[in-house]
Amino acid sequence: MIELTEALPFAKKANESLKGLEIINAEVLKFPHKFAWFNHENDLFKNKLMNRQIVEVTSSAHFIRFILDNQNELAISEDVSFTYANQLSNKTKHQLKLDLSNGYSLIFQIKLYGFVLLGTKDELSEQQHYYRKAIEAISPLDDRFTFEYFKERTMLDSKKGSLKQALATEQHIPGFGNGLLQDVLFHAKMSPKRKISLLTEEDNKNLYQKLIEKITEIVTKGGRDLQIDMFGERGGYTTLMTSARDTCPICHQPLSKEAYLGGKVIYCPFCQIE
Ligand SMILES: [Zn+2]
Repeated sequence: MIELTEALPFAKKANESLKGLEIINAEVLKFPHKFAWFNHENDLFKNKLMNRQIVEVTSSAHFIRFILDNQNELAISEDVSFTYANQLSNKTKHQLKLDLSNGYSLIFQIKLYGFVLLGTKDELSEQQHYYRKAIEAISPLDDRFTFEYFKERTMLDSKKGSLKQALATEQHIPGFGNGLLQDVLFHAKMSPKRKISLLTEEDNKNLYQKLIEKITEIVTKGGRDLQIDMFGERGGYTTLMTSARDTCPICHQPLSKEAYLGGKVIYCPFCQIE
């Protein structure tokens, strides 16, 4: 799943290569997908893309946004990957293919589920709750993401629920999902199941600091290595808490992996205090 730590560097890379290119053809849902959420029917989607120029690629939270020359944009999020190729086998299954004026194509593929939206910023904000939240979100890397703002967004002062609930549910911090949660809490040495009623103001400050530190580190390294950018390259950050890892990278004890509040939590029961 692309989270804000991948959307940012992947969009930046895409912008360098795609800016100024024109879309000369589009294939929409040639390979249908049950959980591909397009906001127009196929022909209309295609017609809206034809002969448009990509003027910028940017990101807002976990959305990657391809801005077109007519104020429209193509916005993708969740489990949508895109690759850039000049040769494509007929067997390559894709949910959207854009042929570009330089002979290359952009191939969009959905794994579990994903949004592929097209429209103006205002239209999409009106239609799509998640898009609007992403557009309005203040990034943890922005100066305006203050300690007070962090507490307000996560409702840490409400004293209800656990850390996972506060940080990674209901889009409290758009683009910060279950994946990022694991490594941030490992860095903060706190269990995802810790009750927030047990946190002191000092703990809250520490958590805020660690969250920003970890996000900065991941973005600086070009995203997590679990995700692939448009050139097929993995992000440069080695994800610590993954399903593939069995033991803690610090104390080498077995990691806990369990279903908790929608999705799995992976943590070290020794290093991360509950
Ligand atoms: Zn440990």
